[in-house]
Amino acid sequence: MNEFTNVSLDRMDRASLFHPVSSIHDITTHGPQIYTDAKGVEVTRDTGQTLLDMGAGLWCVNVGYGRTELVQAGAEAMQKLSFQHFFGGASAEPTIRLADRLLGLFRETVPGSDMARVFFGNSGSDANDTAVKLVVYYNNLRGKPDKKKIISRQGAYHGLTMTAAGLTGIAGYHTAFDLPGKGVLHTTCPHHFGFATPGESEAAFTDRLIAELEQMIAREGADTIGAFIAEPVMGTGGVLLPPEGYFARVQEVLDRHDILLIADEVITGFGRTGQWFGSGTYGLRPDIVSLAKGLTSAYFPMSASMISTRMWEVFANASEKTGAVMHGFTYSGHPVGAAIALANLDVMTREGMVDNAARLGPVLVDALQSRVGGTPHVGDVRGVGLMAGVEFAGFPAGSAPHKIVAKHAMQAGVLTRALPYRPVTSFSPPLCVTEAEIIEAATRYDRALKAAMPELD
Ligand code: PLP
Repeated sequence: MNEFTNVSLDRMDRASLFHPVSSIHDITTHGPQIYTDAKGVEVTRDTGQTLLDMGAGLWCVNVGYGRTELVQAGAEAMQKLSFQHFFGGASAEPTIRLADRLLGLFRETVPGSDMARVFFGNSGSDANDTAVKLVVYYNNLRGKPDKKKIISRQGAYHGLTMTAAGLTGIAGYHTAFDLPGKGVLHTTCPHHFGFATPGESEAAFTDRLIAELEQMIAREGADTIGAFIAEPVMGTGGVLLPPEGYFARVQEVLDRHDILLIADEVITGFGRTGQWFGSGTYGLRPDIVSLAKGLTSAYFPMSASMISTRMWEVFANASEKTGAVMHGFTYSGHPVGAAIALANLDVMTREGMVDNAARLGPVLVDALQSRVGGTPHVGDVRGVGLMAGVEFAGFPAGSAPHKIVAKHAMQAGVLTRALPYRPVTSFSPPLCVTEAEIIEAATRYDRALKAAMPELD
């Protein structure tokens, strides 16, 4: 028994937990929100309230909550081989099969892609750390020791370990952490609605972004830049869809300057955009792909980094001389995570969840547009597949109308995410969501917006 046995969970939480990405002041004042159960698209709080989870956790519970197939796959794998490390060439069946399956899936669904190997980790952040380390490794092995800076974008979110947080282009995540640190450059956020000049078309906006990218490379020197990192759709930045022609033009610039492309598909991987990968949706040809979240639908913390053939050949050719690649984690390739990931891919395939995301994406955007799109507080409603954003407009800089509405939305029984960079609320339900659930969620959000009006005006 400890001293907290007789006090409520609420008080125990306040006295013992250090919450990630949370305000200590808010928790001290209001306490935590405690969840107890979840099934499908619904989550339940300790108060008994059930809510439609239009965030799929943090864009991650792609197959929905409480799927027995994944639970069973995990339990069986744990019973058989509860752990196996992968250092020194050790291996295990589920992980071998998962690597093979991911390569096949990417090859089949991303035309022109050329992925050679898969490295496993534990989180989206460490996948991006791995990507940066491999860029450094690659260019050192190629005799280009100065070619290591990474270009990211303002508004990007790539995670919160020291390296990943430096890549992240949202100032709030840098405050008091001495970030972004050295070796990272942030170019203009490719968000037409937010950053185009008056009257600037999407195509003209893309022209400007590409010119700025070229100027940045010329200023820094192409020989100092190792890679460009991009989410196919910027999630946490505000569900920011790439402007017309953007990725084809970026790719051309990178190819010309021998700069690698890291596709951060931590959100967009596994069906979110209505295709298996965002690289397929937007025509990226990456050298490294970071995957996490939907890989296991968050039933197990696992990430994957896919590496292109041109990088792999450099590693392999140097191997006899360099010896072991001294990078990896205790849980890299965890067989239990791999078994859950395989079951997750089976469920997604059998139930046609990627097609469901493609079919219901327009329904989600229409449902939001028709309910809240016309109000004077909302400037833009947009989306692709099952990731949509409602952007508020016309408020003074620094105000957070979307956060006020999100609180009311919770009371109305719908969980949304009020994002930190632009005043955007995101909707990214599990990919098993039905049309009826989408309509109900949009209706509840509309009710929340109406209830919030007196606080917004
Ligand atoms: N990359 C992207 C695009 C993300 O959205 C996230 C998390 O939201 C990450 C990386 C970091 O993943 P994790 O929180 O698992 O470290």
